[in-house]
Amino acid sequence: MVTVERGRTRCPRCMKMSEYQFLDRGNDTLEYEVRCPDGHVHSEVTTISTPTITAA
Ligand SMILES: [Zn+2]
Repeated sequence: MVTVERGRTRCPRCMKMSEYQFLDRGNDTLEYEVRCPDGHVHSEVTTISTPTITAA
């Protein structure tokens, strides 16, 4: 997995400043992970939105 981006955000559970990172998991999916100093880990997997062209 490749870290695409990292930075600081607030923990969604306790609102402490935490580090987040986006990991490229391949197959057009990104994992967003927040690790807070209290041990809360929040992660969600998102699919990279590829523009879909819908024919009218
Ligand atoms: Zn937390």
